Amino acid sequence: MAKMTFIKSAVKMKDFPISKFKEVAMAGRSNAGKSSLINVWANEKIAKVSQAPGKTRLLNFFNMNNSYIIVDMPGYGYASRGGEELKTWRKMVENYLSQREQLAGLVLVMDMARDWESDEEILAQYMMKNDLPVIVALTKADKFSKNDIAKAVERIKKQSRIDDVFAISSQTRYGCEEFEEFVFRSWIKKVPAK
Ligand code: GDP
Repeated sequence: MAKMTFIKSAVKMKDFPISKFKEVAMAGRSNAGKSSLINVWANEKIAKVSQAPGKTRLLNFFNMNNSYIIVDMPGYGYASRGGEELKTWRKMVENYLSQREQLAGLVLVMDMARDWESDEEILAQYMMKNDLPVIVALTKADKFSKNDIAKAVERIKKQSRIDDVFAISSQTRYGCEEFEEFVFRSWIKKVPAK
């Protein structure tokens, strides 16, 4: 059984937890299903911590099985709104994504019904600058037919130019194990090259 514990919330580098563990960052537009996915991962309602008042704009660090850290990033969707909110969000996210030494990869959590937009592109670019991997978790697969799921995966692959796109459902757990396995196998437990 997975054991996930909340470590702390932070905004600035100096406040990030000091640890030897690799970090998996999770980002998504509000309502994308990010908390639900983290809850499935943890097998309990842990992501509610990040929804406590005042914590929705911070980076929330969770220890996963004493093996790696999941970093729940604040929900986005500000690019279209602009202004101060966007500036603050960008600064925090860019600092974290471009400077965190132990960052292993970014999971972009997206509602399967949506298209890849500039918010997603901004985040993917921060990672690409540092040659770090990005994968996409397309949520709410339970609402779609097999055929439509396949179409959505292809559409997002094309729009994002990202190869690793997973369809998941936090409600039925469809695709969740495969997704978690992929993250663990490719980012955490890297097998040395032969
Ligand atoms: P967050 O804002 O990205 O953390 O999104 P939440 O996890 O809070 O989910 C937003 C809404 O989508 C909630 O009403 C969830 O119940 C719903 N939701 C999340 N995941 C799924 C899913 O896999 N299937 C369905 N049908 N609904 C989901």
